[in-house]
Amino acid sequence: MEKIKLTKKRKEIVDIMNFSSIDDILRYYPYRYDHYQNDCLKMELHDQKVSISGKISSIVLVEKLSHKAMKTSFYITNKTQSVKIIMFNHFANTRFLFEGANIVVIGKYNYFKNEIVVSNFFMGTLDNEEEFIPVYSLPTAIKDQTYRKFVLYVYEYACNNNLLIDTIPDDLIKKYKLISLKEALYAIHHPNSDENLHQAKRYLKYEEFLNFCILGNLKRKSIQVNKSKRAKKINYPLVRNFINSLPFTLTDDQKQAVKEICNDIEGKHHMSRLLQGDVGSGKTIVSFIALLANYSSFYQGALMAPTDILARQHYQSILSFFKNMNIKIALLVSDMPSKEKKEVIEQLKDGDIDIIIGTHALIQPNVVFNNLGLAIIDEQHRFGVKQRIALKEKGEGIDILYMSATPIPRTLASTLYLDMDVSTIQCYPYINRQVTTYYFKENSIKKASLFIEQYLLSRQKVYVVCPSIEEEASNLVNVYEITTSWEKKIKNAKVGLLHGKLSNDEKQTIMTKFVNGEINVLVSTTVIEVGINVFDANMMVIYNAERFGLAQIHQLRGRIARDGKAGYCYLLSNSDDEEVNSRLSFIATCNDGFKISEYDLKRRGAGDLLGIQQSGKSPFYIANLIDDFNILKAASNDASFIFANEEKYESIINTNKKVLEKAMTYID
Ligand code: ADP
Ligand code: MG
Repeated sequence: MEKIKLTKKRKEIVDIMNFSSIDDILRYYPYRYDHYQNDCLKMELHDQKVSISGKISSIVLVEKLSHKAMKTSFYITNKTQSVKIIMFNHFANTRFLFEGANIVVIGKYNYFKNEIVVSNFFMGTLDNEEEFIPVYSLPTAIKDQTYRKFVLYVYEYACNNNLLIDTIPDDLIKKYKLISLKEALYAIHHPNSDENLHQAKRYLKYEEFLNFCILGNLKRKSIQVNKSKRAKKINYPLVRNFINSLPFTLTDDQKQAVKEICNDIEGKHHMSRLLQGDVGSGKTIVSFIALLANYSSFYQGALMAPTDILARQHYQSILSFFKNMNIKIALLVSDMPSKEKKEVIEQLKDGDIDIIIGTHALIQPNVVFNNLGLAIIDEQHRFGVKQRIALKEKGEGIDILYMSATPIPRTLASTLYLDMDVSTIQCYPYINRQVTTYYFKENSIKKASLFIEQYLLSRQKVYVVCPSIEEEASNLVNVYEITTSWEKKIKNAKVGLLHGKLSNDEKQTIMTKFVNGEINVLVSTTVIEVGINVFDANMMVIYNAERFGLAQIHQLRGRIARDGKAGYCYLLSNSDDEEVNSRLSFIATCNDGFKISEYDLKRRGAGDLLGIQQSGKSPFYIANLIDDFNILKAASNDASFIFANEEKYESIINTNKKVLEKAMTYID
């Protein structure tokens, strides 16, 4: 913490909240505001939130409802009205409540009973006609009022020491008629009117987006500088022949993506492209075609996947697609016999291998390429920034293709991803891809067990997914318990267990058994999340579904109904949280990855959806990608303008450079 002097109590707040700078504190915004004013109570306000200020005009009655619950009641009177006040469980504060005391309350009004059930209150009077009291999300150890005073103190310190300097350039502040950072930060913590709050949000949202977009431009530049690209010439007849020989025709979106990628490969600049598409939209074949195009221009290519199982699956699949061609393809994963590994590494170096498929093993220092031209990173959000860079540095200015199965709407993607071009696959190869999702509000498949038994009887297979076994929270189902209960209770179930602590060999053995039917129920933690293809497994049961993000659930159920057969997905959760309930109900009826990411972005911020920050923390505290899209668009244009006039805007660019450097040091 910078120089600022804090009392012991305030230091405790800093520790509890895990703040590491003054900026952290001032950027921890309230999540709502209680609007206190002196409402004139009338019938139109029945059942609504009202607030009233006055004196306690009766004795204060405290009743004990149970050993935990208290009910407090009294009357408030002011110049014009008198109303009964009911409070539940504000026990700690009742000693301040006595006849004659001034109080301001907010709560739900019942006109017919002339009664307010209080949700919040403070002792004293209203200083102004209306007051907005900020409400922060705080652990119970920190009292609201103490925290508000603490924030105010830190704000004043920052002001007095000139720490609040706008990063938005003056001309842009003028252009949008923004208030200053100083005003915005004060107003976000202590607004004096709705309009004042609105202006604070306008400033802070624009600021977040602008800095984000400048960062994006910087990243793009850091990719492009200093490295010249040798011209590549694709052998188009070869590529076209291959596409024509496929057992299916490419969808229009796939064709478009192939075209964009080929243009990039032949282009003057290094490709930095994101290929985004929903699970099962057919990204893999596009990536294979990219590898072929790159190969035909006499360069080596690499495809890196986040797990062994997935890498092996890609390897098998590319071998069969390219079986009639004279291309040397190899696999490199960490737990191969060391002799085999050595050989592959030797051959890569000598240029005897054309295409290599692998995992993190590919970025080990001892792996050297002869002339790497294209690197593809599948499920890119599973890799850290450093790992992505490590792969990039295996060649001289190579082309990079990132793949993501959590797609976001096209317009948003092109505005947001400034450091990458984006290809989007929106249409599915199968018209008939049908997963029916059921959401059960209990963590049990009792209701569906007969159906599941029949399903198994017809020789099909079931995935059962549980949250990670490392999390030992007692209210989670345990994979071992599930395994035994399915074996006991479901007829015909032959259960296998797959989790992160097994060795790759063990995992592979279980997968093989599942594929050939020795096992027909595969209980697993989320290791199956990525890319597995087992064609007769078209049912999935997800326990503790509240634990998973929507994108993750969607990706998980993307494992089923892949061959056009009907798929069934059961989401189980006994959480009684309303947010969970509406989230799971939503995904039970929505099968469109783009809509799902939109829903997520609207409600939960960007999170790991963007794959920008490994911490999983959203880079946006206050701005919302969907609701504030227009602000994002403006900021994105302004950022381009700033980079077209770099000298003029040196200072804001430098500020962001520091942020980028810091991110590179701390991420991973
Ligand atoms: P994802 O985008 O999730 O990686 P995949 O690439 O694994 O999806 O594709 C899912 C399945 O669809 C694969 O079995 C693939 O061979 C098949 N597929 C891909 N493109 C087409 C197409 N145009 N027509 C029919 N099937 C296709
Ligand atoms: Mg895939």
